[in-house]
Amino acid sequence: MRKPFIAGNWKMNTTAESSVALVNALKAAVKDVTTVDIAVVPPFVYLAAVAKAAAGSNIAVGAQDVYFEGNGAFTGEISCDMLKDVGCKYVIIGHSERRHVIGEKDDLINKKVLAALKAGLKPILCVGELLAEREAGKTAAVVTEQTTRCLAGVAADQLLNVTIAYEPVWAIGTGRNATPDQAQEVHVMIRKLVAKLYSQELADKLRIQYGGSAKPANAAELIGQKDVDGLLVGGASLKADDFAEMIKAAQ
Ligand code: PEP
Repeated sequence: MRKPFIAGNWKMNTTAESSVALVNALKAAVKDVTTVDIAVVPPFVYLAAVAKAAAGSNIAVGAQDVYFEGNGAFTGEISCDMLKDVGCKYVIIGHSERRHVIGEKDDLINKKVLAALKAGLKPILCVGELLAEREAGKTAAVVTEQTTRCLAGVAADQLLNVTIAYEPVWAIGTGRNATPDQAQEVHVMIRKLVAKLYSQELADKLRIQYGGSAKPANAAELIGQKDVDGLLVGGASLKADDFAEMIKAAQ
């Protein structure tokens, strides 16, 4: 049985004050939830304050990115140890905005996944196709290639520290979510791929989140799919009540 995992990616939003207010409001709203893993993913500069506010609660904290080197002359980058130092448990790696706005490629994303695992962080590895790729019937090929390349070198005994987030790029921030059937179809495909790359036993245990315009109105139906083990939520995670409703839908 896979425990549902709901994470809220705040992207480049909130302020010092509103980030702490948001996590405090969420803490109160989900304090009785024990059957769902919950994480919030604030901007780097608010991680320490949010982690302090969330300490001792059922809400874990993650970062939106990380660099693979340990330390040194990498201006503007943040290391795995720095993230751990400020209380992070998770790190999103390969988000579509980093792939398609910033230009990250699978080989860099793979290095970040390996570094995060080595440091004891839990990566949320994002994969997903563009609209043109879906319309050209290339979804399976794109997601297979991204998943295979980004997991290269991840040992079997590390795999379950990874969560895969299937996030079709055309659904992110657009208000147009994948249908539950579309999500389920790709999740099954990813699970079969992981069974081939590792084993059926690990594939059965690996959590695969869906992300892309998930909101209170569609959360229950998406999470109700057999192979959808949770959600990576952008916009709707910025409202404590909406995000709490989605977490409760996963209970
Ligand atoms: C995301 O940022 O990962 C995401 C899924 O965004 P949204 O929920 O806003 O589509």
